Amino acid sequence: MKAFAMLKIGEAGWIEKEEPTCGPTDALCKPLAIAICTSDIHTVYEGGVGERHNMVLGHECCAEVIEVGSEVKDFKPGDKVLVPAITPDWSSVEAQAGFAQHSGGMLAGWKFSNIKDGVFGEVFHVNDADGNLAHLPEGMKYEEACMLSDMVPTGFHAVEQADVQFGDTVLVIGIGPVGLMAVAGANLRGASRIIAVGTRPTCVEVAEKYGASEFISYKDGPISEQVMKLTDGKGVDKVIIAGGTVSTFEEAVKSLKPGGRIGNVNYLGKGDMITIPRVEWGAGMGNKVISGGLMPGGRLRMEKLGALVASGKVDVGLMATHVFHGWEHIPEALEMMRVKQPDLIKPVVIL
Ligand code: NDP
Ligand code: ZN
Repeated sequence: MKAFAMLKIGEAGWIEKEEPTCGPTDALCKPLAIAICTSDIHTVYEGGVGERHNMVLGHECCAEVIEVGSEVKDFKPGDKVLVPAITPDWSSVEAQAGFAQHSGGMLAGWKFSNIKDGVFGEVFHVNDADGNLAHLPEGMKYEEACMLSDMVPTGFHAVEQADVQFGDTVLVIGIGPVGLMAVAGANLRGASRIIAVGTRPTCVEVAEKYGASEFISYKDGPISEQVMKLTDGKGVDKVIIAGGTVSTFEEAVKSLKPGGRIGNVNYLGKGDMITIPRVEWGAGMGNKVISGGLMPGGRLRMEKLGALVASGKVDVGLMATHVFHGWEHIPEALEMMRVKQPDLIKPVVIL
């Protein structure tokens, strides 16, 4: 089969590869539309998960089932499906402990284009099909369905990590597609003020639509100083990190009230250490919690978030700013995600 792959760190291209085979609880699918993720950029160009050779890229798509294993009950060839980026083994002890995304080891629920081939091939493999796939909601556009693979569940997981409550003032650092979904999620959870950090004009415009009330730029000096000015020196209740670098944590801790919580979903592709400022962390006693997570994946989450999007409460289509038609556009879409021109949020390729 034809597939678009990471050839080695720093290089991606087309390859020919054997089609995957279907085990008893698995499904084989063909993508109907794919989206490029910033994580694909970390993986290929920064070696974020280490060296890989000829590994098919991609973990965001919607698809059609073409084959199912003998044990699969709820899906059959021809079904159109939502596909989560994270596809845990639901019978693992980690899943039983409540952390399915780490089934089989840390981050091992993230299988596509990490520990096995991803979805940018003519055929891709889904483990535990009944546990991971969800039927495509009726009438949902493919580009919306692609946002449900990763952007919606990851942005919303950031909101869960930060434990946003009614009336909270929330700082969202980074308003690319993940941060935008964190803004939308914090808004749905009843945040009273959402201070957003980011500069790309289209992202700012869409963040406002999703509920951001104020904006600051990380290019205008330390984030925490700007936050303190906006909050009369008090700081915010919750911080969501969906962009920046290892040094962003310092700003997040400084921006947070005592008793506050930081929820990080940013994939730290570079750097060795994260430093926590001692004084602003209350010399270790400030009750400031730092939590970071990979979105949990799986069918239930896909079904629930699919229903939420289908209800019209969040217009995720606003994020698909660049829609292409045809496999040949995948390299162009990847390059677009690497460069991030001012009007880009997310490139989608309909196949
Ligand atoms: P984008 O690159 O589109 O957005 C990043 C945002 O961070 C932009 O708003 C950008 O601002 C802002 N930013 C850049 N540098 C800084 C800085 N120094 N300080 C503060 N803000 C900064 O990324 P995505 O939204 O696509 O993804 C965000 C992160 O989430 C990525 O690292 C991605 O890999 C990760 N991710 C994590 C997942 C998980 O399960 N945990 C799953 C999927 C993605 P500007 O507007 O100026 O560009
Ligand atoms: Zn992704």
